[in-house]
Amino acid sequence: MPIREYRQEFVRPPNPSAPHLRCFASFEEDIEDILPHLHAVLRGHQFSRQPPMLTVKLQGEQAQLITIYPRMIAINIVKDQEEADKILEWLRQVINDTWERRQEIQPRFDVPAKPRILEILRLLPKTNCRQCGLPTCLVFAAQVSEGLKSLVACPGLEEPNRAKLADYLANFDGFGPACPRPPGYLPRNS
Ligand code: SF4
Repeated sequence: MPIREYRQEFVRPPNPSAPHLRCFASFEEDIEDILPHLHAVLRGHQFSRQPPMLTVKLQGEQAQLITIYPRMIAINIVKDQEEADKILEWLRQVINDTWERRQEIQPRFDVPAKPRILEILRLLPKTNCRQCGLPTCLVFAAQVSEGLKSLVACPGLEEPNRAKLADYLANFDGFGPACPRPPGYLPRNS
């Protein structure tokens, strides 16, 4: 069951001007049985039993999502091969360690609660200025709730509302600074 090696593939996102890549790593081993254990270890942002998948959000204020399937890992944003290698090697170690310790880990099957869109919107500037690249603050709030946008993408969001929002988001799995992440990992500001 431990993952011995994986094959990487990089693809450009649909927007040709996007400065990042998507990365997919596939492997022979089937890790479906330990996805609930990984959910407990990694504090997954999303979890599904059918189809089996676990999504992990790496950092509280950015939008880098990793989805783990039984035979594949997908990372929505990577800068380059070096960053992908760092994340994938960390994950391979976490997965293999979780497999070794599966008898001592209480598996999680719950679908984590998401931050409420209106609670996020309440603290945004609500100017619909579009500087975040989205048409309205409501759309931005929805994407923050899904873990697809970070607070830093809204230049008009100032203290104390920024701190209040960060505190609110920290209550949810996948958003708090305590979530596991690769050693030396730096937050992405987009
Ligand atoms: S940048 Fe901020 S204020 Fe402007 S539309 Fe986006 S969320 Fe609203």
